Amino acid sequence: MSTACSPAPTAVPGPAQVPVLQVDLAAVAANTRLLADRAQGGLMAVVKADGFGHGAVDVARTALAHGATWLGTTGLGEAWPLRAAGLRAPLLSWLNPVDADWAAAAAHDVDVAVPGAEHLAAVAAAPGRSRVHLHVDTGMARDGAAPASWSALCAAARRAERRGQVEVVGVMGHLGCAEDPTDPCNGLARTRFAWALETARAAGLRPVHRHLAATAATLTDPRTHHTMSRVGAGLVGIDPSGTTPLRGALTLTAPVVSVRRVPAGTPVGYGHAHRTQRATHLGLLAVGYADRLPRAASGRAEALVAGRRRPLVGRVSMDQVVVDLGDRPVDLGEPVTLLGPGDAGEPTAQEWAAWAGTIPHEVVTGLGAAARLQRRTAGATHLRSLP
Ligand SMILES: *Cc1c(COP(=O)(O)O)cnc(C)c1O
Repeated sequence: MSTACSPAPTAVPGPAQVPVLQVDLAAVAANTRLLADRAQGGLMAVVKADGFGHGAVDVARTALAHGATWLGTTGLGEAWPLRAAGLRAPLLSWLNPVDADWAAAAAHDVDVAVPGAEHLAAVAAAPGRSRVHLHVDTGMARDGAAPASWSALCAAARRAERRGQVEVVGVMGHLGCAEDPTDPCNGLARTRFAWALETARAAGLRPVHRHLAATAATLTDPRTHHTMSRVGAGLVGIDPSGTTPLRGALTLTAPVVSVRRVPAGTPVGYGHAHRTQRATHLGLLAVGYADRLPRAASGRAEALVAGRRRPLVGRVSMDQVVVDLGDRPVDLGEPVTLLGPGDAGEPTAQEWAAWAGTIPHEVVTGLGAAARLQRRTAGATHLRSLP
């Protein structure tokens, strides 16, 4: 029997032969400049959920270099990597369990939001003098203190401040209907926020940072801006208000793995959900819902192939999807653009969201979290010359 070694592995596939998720930080830079320009106060770059799937450190660094002065995350676990990456900007984390590591937050200069008496007591009891932003519920019944408890929370915070346990540097609220500026819910929230600020002041607090607006209100309603806007979606090109052209920062491409010619009436994929109307060419792409291509978009989604919009046919499977190439087959390896900023006519995150019955936030955070997609980030090089 031969004892020869098995042949050396063939070359690792080149980048054009796998699905690639490209992050364009130049788009983040341009969006940040536009938002900073619109905001009447300062701009906090919200980089939760890994910077909406675009890379939290990359987005944070880019935003800070182009007009943002603060960083924001949901949990403290999202704040540590920013500090570890050397980002020293003011940083707020607003949603944490009552037993979070408040001492570490103080030690790393991470401000924390306080949504109620229990959180305040825990933060005050932790070693160090925590910088806190009191969070008032301005009408979503979600995070933040209920209005009925706000006055007592302000009084307790003032007592903790007197004892040197905390420093109340901010008050925050959040808008639940800002994507529709005509919704009366916005006026109620503005009024409630103004009342909350007044109540805090009457309790002896002097919060220098007062922030209510996220992306949509930053773009549509200066009355919500106060001293700072907290923007996340807008940084990565999503405008929930639909009023302002922002630039998408993700591009998903997948090479054609195989092409087959089929007659009319050919069933395609699981459940035979599609049947070809006429003789055509079908191209196979090795990307599916495990890569967070929304399965709910099956039967509606399209892609850009060699400059033409072509339908994806049949169901989006876990690992593959089929594109109807029509009578013009393409070479194997031809890159198909599934999603991008729309420049060349490729579908955008907004279109995918509409096809899937969701919002673009879910599309981009999903793709950004997809472990199998090869990730590339461009546009960061110009940042090397910046402080
Ligand atoms: C996500 C979030 C933001 C940012 O909202 P965008 O609409 O993405 O700009 C601001 N504030 C809070 C509390 C958030 O959870």
